Order: sequence, then structure tokens, then C-alpha cells
Amino acid sequence: MSSLGLVFVDQLSKNNLVYESIGAEDSLLFFEPMSSFYELPHHKQKLIYLITSLRKYIPTIKHERVIHEKVTENHEGLTKTLKRIFSEQQFEKLYVTKPSDYQTLKELMFFCQSNSIILNVLEDTKFVSNEEDFDLWSKGKKSLIQEYFYRWIRKKHSVLMDEGKPEGGKWNLDKENRKGASALKEIIPDRKPIKTDELTIGVMVEVDKIFNKSFGDFENFNWATTHKEAWNQMLEFFDTYFKNYGSFQDAMKSNEPFMFHSLLSAYLNSGLLDPMDCIEEAECRYRNNEAPLNSAEGFIRQIIGWREFIRGIYWSNMPHYKELNFFNNTNKLPSFFWDGNTKMHCIADVVDTTKKNAYAHHIQRLMVTGNFAMLSGISPNDICDWYLSVYIDAYEWVELPNTLGMATFSDGGVVGSKPYAASGKYINRMSNYCSSCEYNPKNTIEDDSCPFNYLYWNFLMKNQGLLSKNPRMGLIYNTLSKFQEPFKEKVKRKSDIFFKEIF
Ligand SMILES: Cc1cc2nc3c(=O)[nH]c(=O)nc-3n(C[C@H](O)[C@H](O)[C@H](O)COP(=O)(O)OP(=O)(O)OC[C@H]3O[C@@H](n4cnc5c(N)ncnc54)[C@H](O)[C@@H]3O)c2cc1C
Ligand code: SF4
Repeated sequence: MSSLGLVFVDQLSKNNLVYESIGAEDSLLFFEPMSSFYELPHHKQKLIYLITSLRKYIPTIKHERVIHEKVTENHEGLTKTLKRIFSEQQFEKLYVTKPSDYQTLKELMFFCQSNSIILNVLEDTKFVSNEEDFDLWSKGKKSLIQEYFYRWIRKKHSVLMDEGKPEGGKWNLDKENRKGASALKEIIPDRKPIKTDELTIGVMVEVDKIFNKSFGDFENFNWATTHKEAWNQMLEFFDTYFKNYGSFQDAMKSNEPFMFHSLLSAYLNSGLLDPMDCIEEAECRYRNNEAPLNSAEGFIRQIIGWREFIRGIYWSNMPHYKELNFFNNTNKLPSFFWDGNTKMHCIADVVDTTKKNAYAHHIQRLMVTGNFAMLSGISPNDICDWYLSVYIDAYEWVELPNTLGMATFSDGGVVGSKPYAASGKYINRMSNYCSSCEYNPKNTIEDDSCPFNYLYWNFLMKNQGLLSKNPRMGLIYNTLSKFQEPFKEKVKRKSDIFFKEIF
């Protein structure tokens, strides 16, 4: 009996192991309609990007028996599709690369078990490490610290090393990567337009019709949709932006949605680019003196440090991870996360770029929207659904640990050792947002005070029982203990009034 190979829309790696697992007599199913497409209002650009990429990719696969399951208005879903296909032809085995979320994996396991089909879940080749690496590294460790995982992977793959030691003597140059927007003297070159062809336009029309309740604009669609185009985007990043990537990694500027970032996450996460190719190119540019070490190390750390670590955290902690709510937060997501209609200029700018581009860079996601969600006690479900919907690179394996763990500390310290909570003073230091905001980042309890300032102290007071014993929070709780009661009361009152207005 023959087998069926299943390829999801975000599994477009050229070396997807499904192809070498099946024979010429077997069939290949390319499956477009991810179930979350119908459950969440995904950004239109994300849907267009994924569907177009898959449709351009299928003709490049030289296989005779191909089934292409397309998105439709009321799609029957994965299980029913498989039932239909298996009722037409009885396959003995199903081969699939591990899906990007736990629920889909469970669905496949259940389907195969109930129908006596042998399920072969294959390793995902769009990562540098595999899950066994993570298990091996994490075995016996009390807490999992990204920095040590990063060093381990870097050594294992000999990336940016000098005779067994880290290139330049230090593993991590993050301290050199914290220049604010005010230090930026040069103009950031515009991103070059990527030609939109007929196939892409056709998908735009289809997506607009089928997913008419989805979020965002598609007029600015400027994403590569083939391996070759993604490769060219990678080269363009290294040629034009990489030199400044490190120094301005944390800087934010109004109307500069991309700064010097790579914009490569969408391609890495759907398989149009291979992470090792990006890392080798980064190292090569550094060794050719085209970019400083802080850019090369910073970029490489994001990919072989954070990206690989985050994925290890997801799979080793699911399914209970998704249920975590350390602060017991229950507030609903305010409507300005969707329409940007707020006087807080930083949030309005981040929501605006999110709508226009299906993109915001890391510090915008972490220190503006993520920080705000944590300080305002927004329910982890609401905020995770938002991040999963609005960004072109978002899949549960990467979105969840970043949102639940890194940005909102709802996992109580699985990803990070302390909350990334910050007041408006941080945003003011790193950006030019505050100079054109109605609020004043220097004030906390005055009429024009920046909400991030009083919400920050309010968050620390409210969660003192949960956080004050954290050794990394000692200093800040020491400062809080010196505040007078009237100040603390005003902070609380202002926060309550603010919450009444937004929730
Ligand atoms: C709340 C929140 C949610 C996030 N959700 C996602 C998500 O759904 N998908 C996603 O790919 N990234 C997510 N990130 C991580 C990061 O913000 C994006 O990877 C990055 O902004 C993508 O833009 P870029 O390609 O220009 O990144 P660059 O700054 O150019 O970084 C280079 C690459 O490093 C990788 N990377 C950097 N940081 C991380 C990280 N923390 N986790 C995983 N990979 C990382 C990405 O592949 C990225 O392309 C999230 C971060 C936060 C704080
Ligand atoms: S003042 Fe506060 S709300 Fe306004 S842009 Fe600055 S940090 Fe954001």
C-alpha cells in the first residue's frame, strides 16, 4: 500500500524530509487552509504571503501524484479533508514534518490512531538544531537560560569562533547594541519594491473575498514569495542594512517601521530561507570587514540563540504552557490594538506599521505593545491571539513563548528570569515617539503624565507578592519602598481611571 506525504503551507523548505520519505508511487498533499486561518483574523498580507508562496512552490516539486488542497470560504478542515482523501485511496502511512503548533500535531495523531494509519512525524529542517539537541542540553538543568543554549549551539556549529573561543573574546555584545534613535545621524535607505505578479494579485483578490474579516491592509504588500526572491532579500539586507543592524537593534523611530532589521523572519519560518545560510552569510560579511562584530554577533544570536531556544521551550512545555497565567490577568484587549486609535503615540505608531506591513520589529513588539499588555493586565489569551494574528512571521511555536514568556512574563519565568517591564522613560530613551506625544514621559502623577509611567509603578505594587522575592527585582522594589504613600495612592488612582477609560 502506498503512503501520503503532507506538506503544510509553512513547510516550504527545499529539504523538507517528506520528499525523501516517500516514493514515486506515493502521493503528496499540499495543504493551504491552516485551521487558524479560520479561527483568527490573520493579517491579509500573512495569508497572501503563505498562499502565494505555496502556489509558486508546488510546480517546482517534481512529483507525479500531487493533491493541492486550497483555501475556500467554509473549509472543512484538516481531519475531514484527510478522511475524504483516505476514503478515495487507502494509504498505509502518513508522512509529515512536525507542524508549527501542538493542536495540529494532536489532530494528526488522533486521526491516524482512529484510522489505523502509521504516522511518521519528521524533523523540521528549517532549524539549525533539532529537538534532541534541546533535550540533551536542557536535561538536568533547573532553569533554562537562553544565553547558555546560544553558546552551546555556537560552539557545536563553530559559528563566529576563534580557536575554541568566541570571536573578539566575548560571547555577547548586547551592551553595544543599545543606541537610541537620537544617535542615528544617517538616513535609513528605503526598502526596494518587490514586483507583484499576476499570481500574487489573484491571491490578493481571493484572500480579500474569503477572509474579509481579516486584519490589515494589503496595499503595501512587499514580501518575497519564492526561494530565489527571499535569497535576494537576504543579500539586500546584508548589502544595505547589516552594518548598522547591531548598534540600532533596539532603537525605534516614528515612520521608520523597519530601521536596520532584516525582515527575514517570515522567510525563515515558512522555509523560503535556511537559517544556516543566513548565519554563514553574516559571518562571511563580518570576516570580509563589511560589518562590525556587534552586528554579526547580534544577528547570529537572534537566530541560533533566540529562535532555536524559543522553539525548544515551546515543544518541551506544551500543552500546559498555553494555559499559564502567572499574574492571573483577565483584562480584555483594548480596541486600539486593532485600530491604533489612542493618544499614546508609541502604540499608535506600532499598530499603524502592524496594519500597513504585517510587521513590527522586536523592540516595538517587546517594549511597546508587549510591555503595555503586561502593565495593563491583559489576559494572556487575548494578547497571544493578537500577536498570532497580526504578524507575517507568527506561528504558535514562536509567537507563544515570545508573548507569554518574554513580553508579558505570564509563564512566571520559563523564558526570562524577570519581567521586561519598563516605564515611558525607556521608550523615550530609545525612540523619538515621545517628542510628538500628548503625554509627558517625564511625569508620573501629573495631568499630562505618560500612562506607561504610572502603570509601571502600579504593576509593581499590584504584583509585589509575586515579584518582590525575585532577586533581579530587588533594586526596583527597594526604590518603590522609598516612595511616599500619597504618591503611591495617586499612581493607583490614575491607573484605575485609565483602565476605566480603555476597558
Ligand atoms: C511579543 C513578541 C512576539 C513575537 N512573535 C514572533 C513571531 O510570531 N514570529 C517570529 O518569528 N518572531 C516573533 N518575535 C520575535 C521577533 O520580534 C521577530 O522575530 C522579529 O521582529 C522579526 O523581524 P526581523 O526578521 O526583521 O528580525 P531581526 O531583528 O532582523 O532578527 C533576525 C532574526 O532573528 C530571529 N529572531 C529574533 N528574535 C527572535 C525571537 N525572540 N524569537 C524567535 N526568533 C527571533 C528571527 O528569525 C529574525 O528574522 C516576537 C517577539 C515578541 C517580543
Ligand atoms: S510619552 Fe508615553 S505614551 Fe507617549 S510616546 Fe512616550 S512612552 Fe508612549
